[in-house]
Amino acid sequence: MKFLADRMLGKLAKELRMLGYDTLYYRGENTYPLIKWAREEDRMILTRNTKLLPRRPEDRILRIMEDNPLLQLKELIKKGLVSLKEENFFVRCLLCNHLLDEMPREEAEGNVPDFIFHQQKEYSRCPQCLKIYWKGSHRDHMKRKVEKLFG
Ligand SMILES: [Zn+2]
Repeated sequence: MKFLADRMLGKLAKELRMLGYDTLYYRGENTYPLIKWAREEDRMILTRNTKLLPRRPEDRILRIMEDNPLLQLKELIKKGLVSLKEENFFVRCLLCNHLLDEMPREEAEGNVPDFIFHQQKEYSRCPQCLKIYWKGSHRDHMKRKVEKLFG
């Protein structure tokens, strides 16, 4: 399942990426380009807009009811649209949705803070925006939070 989140759901979009789901984010206010984009890429629209309704049979639009991003995620899980597979966690860039590449540790030297370089062995990098990720405490924290919430 691929998603397209509207402007109200930026945090949810990041969390979906964290879980490995291909999720784009539409910052605009006009609904026509949003629907068109979703059709072109066969994505389900996630929105909080009560007035956004399907115009063609192929349009898939899901209205998110919750305010809190983690509860929004839970909503998607309850509907069977999202599942938690640990092997898919942290495979995507949280900023631009691109799949990450493995990065050799030696390339991290000088490109991450020294204390990180000394602590962390595994790195990955976004080929699009070049952001570097490592399996640090932030990841573990997020993982525990998600696991606690969903059991
Ligand atoms: Zn990126």
